Amino acid sequence: MNIQSGKGVRRSRRELFGEDGHSDHEENNVSVISEQHEVTPREEVPQPKQDEHQPSQQQQQQQHPRKKSKYNQHKSRDQYEYALPEEQSKKSLLRQNKQTQNTSWEVEQFNRASQLPLANEDKVTENANDYEFVFDESQFVTYDEADILPGDEDDQVASPSSASDEMAELRKNLPVYAYRQDFLNTLETNQVLIVVGETGSGKTTQLPQYLYEAGYSKNNLAIACTQPRRVAATSIATRVAYEMNVKLGQEVGYTIRFDDKSSKDTVIKYVTDGMLLREFLTDPQLSHYSAIMIDEAHERTISTEILLGLLKDITVTRPQLKIIIASATINAEKFSSFFNNAPILNIPGRRFPVKIHYTKSPEANYIQAALTTIFQIHTTQESGDILVFLTGQEEIETMEEALNDSIDKLGDQIEPMMVCSIYANMASEVQSKIFDPPPQGTRKVVLATNIAETSITIDGIKYVIDPGYVKQNKYNPGTGMESLVIVPCSRASADQRAGRAGRIGPGKCFRLFTKWCFYNELEANPVPEILRTNLTSVILLLLSLGINDLLKFEFMDPPSKQSIIKALELLYALGALNSQGKLTKTGQKMTEFPLDPILTKCILMSSKFGVTIQTCAIIAMISESTNLFYRPKGKAELADARKAQFHHDLGDHFTLLNIWRAWKDYGYSKEWCRDCFINYKTLQRAKNVYAQLIRLCSKIGGAEMLQENKEDEDRMIQKALISGFFMNVCRLSRMGDGYERLKGSTGGCFIHPSSALYKTKPKLVIYYELVLTSKEYMRCCSVVDDKLVKEMAGHYYVNK
Ligand code: ADP
Ligand code: MG
Repeated sequence: MNIQSGKGVRRSRRELFGEDGHSDHEENNVSVISEQHEVTPREEVPQPKQDEHQPSQQQQQQQHPRKKSKYNQHKSRDQYEYALPEEQSKKSLLRQNKQTQNTSWEVEQFNRASQLPLANEDKVTENANDYEFVFDESQFVTYDEADILPGDEDDQVASPSSASDEMAELRKNLPVYAYRQDFLNTLETNQVLIVVGETGSGKTTQLPQYLYEAGYSKNNLAIACTQPRRVAATSIATRVAYEMNVKLGQEVGYTIRFDDKSSKDTVIKYVTDGMLLREFLTDPQLSHYSAIMIDEAHERTISTEILLGLLKDITVTRPQLKIIIASATINAEKFSSFFNNAPILNIPGRRFPVKIHYTKSPEANYIQAALTTIFQIHTTQESGDILVFLTGQEEIETMEEALNDSIDKLGDQIEPMMVCSIYANMASEVQSKIFDPPPQGTRKVVLATNIAETSITIDGIKYVIDPGYVKQNKYNPGTGMESLVIVPCSRASADQRAGRAGRIGPGKCFRLFTKWCFYNELEANPVPEILRTNLTSVILLLLSLGINDLLKFEFMDPPSKQSIIKALELLYALGALNSQGKLTKTGQKMTEFPLDPILTKCILMSSKFGVTIQTCAIIAMISESTNLFYRPKGKAELADARKAQFHHDLGDHFTLLNIWRAWKDYGYSKEWCRDCFINYKTLQRAKNVYAQLIRLCSKIGGAEMLQENKEDEDRMIQKALISGFFMNVCRLSRMGDGYERLKGSTGGCFIHPSSALYKTKPKLVIYYELVLTSKEYMRCCSVVDDKLVKEMAGHYYVNK
């Protein structure tokens, strides 16, 4: 343990956080000397010191989160519970001590406190069981002061003053405005232009408007701007419609999967990169557009990369089409050389320096550490909002609940604080809340996924808390296994995140990992998605566009041959390709659906068994099922009992169908959802997806496709599911409770605890997806049997 080595190192709150935030930005050279040790400039890789940057061996075993997925150390909601029973008065809540029963929070805090390097150990021993973590410095997370992310000195303009035409004024005050004419002029004489600028400089909201103002939307043409994320597309379109004072869906609109808010009048359209890719299917020359801006190109999503390849092709046939590649970071040269040395327009940022604090030792539980840090900032730092980067909706909801709970309990003992969040599946009505300025004197805490890293900018942020993780797809082309994992983010991402704190003035970023870890364990840049994902959908799309020689397609970073072959094999097994590698009728039909070919295959086959309606409902529900139920505190048992009503012995697909049907029987009622502790918004989204799937089915197969066969319905649904998910059939191992895939298994996976089959453990199951937490879990499982597998997937298991 570090108690000895850390003794005396810990500085007071004033010293550590710097009571006066303004003094920080004067220290804008690269290194800051802390009291006890010298800190290396950030360009150099510091050698780990045993006592500070590197955890002791014991700590590494117990705590080091980066050796294995830290997600496995997450706790259930209840374990995070550190607030106290409601009936006690606020004062006594904070004064409560040893006599009260030990909660897990108490024990944890005690353990934590006794492990921290402390300036005043006596104090902690005395008060170890207190709940004063919010005010008690000794329970704070200890940080190093080490790096400064330099700001851009040249152009630090204060926020716009409120002028008569406030919006015009606001727009003119964005850094990009000074480059408006340059931008338009360069585009006059060049077909492709790369624009690089600090996040928040106005690229996404302004450039399409400049194009519109310059007349690019004449002759019924439109301007498209792609976004990798759905939430970004909707929220930016909303903003731009507001800036232009038009109704969303008219002149300014968006198109995301299963949600199209654009019309024939739309001249500026924000669209996910995946949806623009699909437009190539109906309009291979994208003749409807005069200009296309590929935004967030640095994210290197797979759809963006394919778009770049396709756009490069049509520059030849459409010399009038303008292409703008916008990127937040400095990999502009790569885009420029891909487009035959296209010019680069640099928009200098306007960022103040950000002081970076690292933890002194690894934090075993980043949710916990982030919570503590929020209160640490709130009670010791001057005003300014806080942005916390989390990996997904579940984490955000857990944190939001815990945070709101403590805020309620603390009442007026702390200054007011409001919490809001943003993540991928968030309903657009609530999204806009994150942009609302907090009431005077209230501090806003925004809990966000990495959508807030570069896609959207929230004004007013002064503090960033970065646990250093991101949720990603991981694909193993050898086995064809794909799973969602939480992995450390890259150094480039961490710096982007930190930069978000420096928009309104000098900021601070609290990294919940050590400096040693930053330099030694984080990759410099994120791995492009194309190199770590399953290519099936994309290859199906390219084939349907007539691009048959995939190895010749111009990728910025070509995927491995192995993953291309694996995708072709799967498409063949799904019946989308024939033995010559040509698209079959099934393959053509598959491209009609904006879904993974595996899901589409289930739908197409379901019509043969008369269960298309049921299958569409299951598929619409499946993608939303992670966040379907909630368990409010105090009513958790009731919620569990309600959930149990829907249980189906055959598994989760059928359970989802039960829920869907019950909701439908109750007239899609909101009250019913509330009674059952089901997320109404989630079901509404599922309903929307369902309606569109049914529409697509009648488009390609007419009423015939939707004919129902009530006989042996369950078995027919099982058949439809196996027809798509045949590669996800797993058998219970003889050894224990683990499962192995029938083909290509690399080791055991387990039924997810949330599954209807968790306790029954049937011999043979089929799953929807793998999620890697502490174990490889199969999420959404249903029972199948050998006979069915043989009938529906004999072709795949022929060698078994
Ligand atoms: P970039 O694309 O260069 O990162 P944006 O065009 O997204 O920059 O944002 C420019 C500015 O517009 C931001 O700094 C922010 O102040 C403002 N802004 C963007 N979206 C919203 C919104 N939904 N509500 C309020 N302000 C917004
Ligand atoms: Mg942007």
